[in-house]
Amino acid sequence: MAFSGFLEDDEKINYILSTRSRLYPLEPRGLGSFMKEGLISYITRLSEAHCIEVGTLVSYECSLNFGVPRIYSYHSNKVMSTFYKDATSINGFGSISLEMEKAIKKLTLRSDIEEMNLNKWVFIPRNKSIVKRYKHWCSQCYSEWKEAGVPIYDPLIWSINLLKICPVHKTLLQTSCPKCFREIPIIHHRSMISHCIYCFNSLITNIENQATMSEEEQLFQEWLSESLGSMLVCEKEFVDTTSICNSLKMFREKYCENNDRVFSRVLLIENKRRQLNAYCRGAAAPHFNLLLWFCYILGVKLVDICTGGEFTQNGRDSNDSLHDFKKYFMIENKWSKIDKVLVREKLQKYYTCYPPRSFKSISRELNVEESYLRKSFPKEAKFLSTKFRKFREAQKIENLQMQKNLMEKVIDDFFRENNAVPSKSMLKRLMGSSHVTFKRELMDYYREKIKEYNVITHEYFGVIGPFG
Ligand SMILES: [Zn+2]
Ligand SMILES: [Zn+2]
Repeated sequence: MAFSGFLEDDEKINYILSTRSRLYPLEPRGLGSFMKEGLISYITRLSEAHCIEVGTLVSYECSLNFGVPRIYSYHSNKVMSTFYKDATSINGFGSISLEMEKAIKKLTLRSDIEEMNLNKWVFIPRNKSIVKRYKHWCSQCYSEWKEAGVPIYDPLIWSINLLKICPVHKTLLQTSCPKCFREIPIIHHRSMISHCIYCFNSLITNIENQATMSEEEQLFQEWLSESLGSMLVCEKEFVDTTSICNSLKMFREKYCENNDRVFSRVLLIENKRRQLNAYCRGAAAPHFNLLLWFCYILGVKLVDICTGGEFTQNGRDSNDSLHDFKKYFMIENKWSKIDKVLVREKLQKYYTCYPPRSFKSISRELNVEESYLRKSFPKEAKFLSTKFRKFREAQKIENLQMQKNLMEKVIDDFFRENNAVPSKSMLKRLMGSSHVTFKRELMDYYREKIKEYNVITHEYFGVIGPFG
């Protein structure tokens, strides 16, 4: 239908509003491939495309379309709403993820928004820990995209919890800002794709991740990235969990004399015999990590087990070394099996690590809860925390000094050219940080500096510059 002259203004407006999307329907990246974009990345890019902060987009656009008002529009976008605490699951599943999916769909009128989260993965119990709380990214991918002139984004696969490597480059993902060394929440009211939300430093660098992993873990990570990748491109809807139950049941019948004890021994989870029985009966669905473990140990593909395909045991040979692999799947009972001597040794290894790591990220890497570590290893915990704190303080002072030096130079250059001092906003622009709110210390320094120049202006020219 085209506009015709007789349409009233109101009708015209209604027509326009009903056929146009409220927000720019940005093209998601990588759809159809294992590197498809995650919904949080999409929201971030959407806010960038509209030159607003993520907080503004969420508060004033998305939340109006939520069934439950999770965030109130009269809340300033600066308010660190509790919304962001739960919002990490937007890339995964659950009510926030669904609501966000619906809201973005409505705002962009795109039909492919649901591809960007894990809502289709109905085969796993709805456990939020499947997605990461902190941003992980591959600097090689970022650099390549930048060079190719294509939009930078965060693939969904990077945000799946067990994965530590980039599926393309097979190298460790970055976990903290190369400048301020802080970990960046995966979603924040001022999230940016390629910049740190704390120091605004670009995350597109050529600095390789310094951390290393064993050859064994590398192999596991490559296996994992392939498994997850093939799940992400699978077009089939995972309708229910019966296919997993059928697969397990079939395997038990064929290779384990239909006996739970034998089956649990094959899977190296003798202590989970009753659970295994529940999985075969379909009374419960295995935790995602456990499901991955089954696939790993039986040598079957995650896609096959989830789509009910029959599989044979072409498994792994030596059970001894396989036991060690459990730690990569994080399926051991965390509390009873902690080897204190080993953990202490591991903690002490971080003493010399440069740049120092936050205690939180260390505990996450060791896969032991932070509170437990602090209680059981108070001396080590205190040492590491203090070291990190001091390092960060020194960093802050150094950064401030660098900013002050730059400011001095910028004011001086400006004064030489214009016989006046730059205004606050001009100064920010000249310093290449127009989007940053200066810290009070830096602001005070600016006032102090321009006073000196105003004195000079008075002395030599008898006027105050037009900009001050
Ligand atoms: Zn990469
Ligand atoms: Zn930073």
